Amino acid sequence: MDLGIRGKIALVTASSRGLGRGCAEQLAAEGCRVAICSRDAGAARQAAEAISKKTGTDVFGVAADLSEAGDINRLLDGVRKALGEPEILVTNAGGPPPGTYASTAIEEYEKALNLTLMSAVHLIHGVTPAMQSNGWGRIIAITSISVKQPIGTLLLSNMARAGLTGFLKTIATELAPDGITVNALLPGTHKTSRIDQLATFRAEQEKTSPEAIIQEMMSANPSQTIGDPSDFGAAAAFLASVQARYITGQNILVDGGNYRGLL
Ligand code: NAD
Repeated sequence: MDLGIRGKIALVTASSRGLGRGCAEQLAAEGCRVAICSRDAGAARQAAEAISKKTGTDVFGVAADLSEAGDINRLLDGVRKALGEPEILVTNAGGPPPGTYASTAIEEYEKALNLTLMSAVHLIHGVTPAMQSNGWGRIIAITSISVKQPIGTLLLSNMARAGLTGFLKTIATELAPDGITVNALLPGTHKTSRIDQLATFRAEQEKTSPEAIIQEMMSANPSQTIGDPSDFGAAAAFLASVQARYITGQNILVDGGNYRGLL
């Protein structure tokens, strides 16, 4: 199916690896002109080159620390100069450190809010004026299954993503008349370095190995496996498509059936 987004300008943040990279690759494969970023300029450049080679489209890679509002503004200026105003935005950042109420220091809360909630708010503020003038835009936020089912060892992530979910739902209604859709994609368990980090944290707590934790994650999933970033990227590309124009304000799980609730 042609998603109708060939030539559209797409910005995917925190995308030199993992789920962000999966989204950037799929959008590039659909013919979008993609910008990616990473804190490390070299990693951004290398990933951009690799995606260009794989998909045959030019990809722009730039350095930005998403917990810094100034860096986000510089990132947006760089993308505007190199490609133009983003028409598709996929917001993503690394997850805050794992921890429980007992193990989380009070100073960590604000950092987590800056990284996971405010980075998306700043990015969205930066791209919506042009989307509104054009009467077309797609905003997709990578959040987590934890917004439906909080995860005990991810206190900071649960808190910050709940706030982001409330923000997204509110602006989805406000921006719908301008032809802009706003949705969240909720990863369950996908094979990325984030899952390796969480498996190592749980392995230490449960006195077992990270491999055993990953095996347990696979067996507990109805699909008996964990996802690949390309599964996730394909869902993001569909939400960015012209066909998805009537889907907005939604929280869509990509989790192999792991969430057991009704809604
Ligand atoms: P990942 O660790 O593979 O990639 C995260 C990327 O974010 C890395 O490239 C990292 O360098 C970058 N990053 C971290 N802090 C940054 C900052 N301040 N500025 C710029 N870039 C920064 O993780 P992932 O699995 O791709 O996860 C992406 C998001 O999805 C994370 O927020 C994660 O918590 C969430 N998530 C992932 C899963 C999963 O199954 N992988 C499940 C639920 C939620």
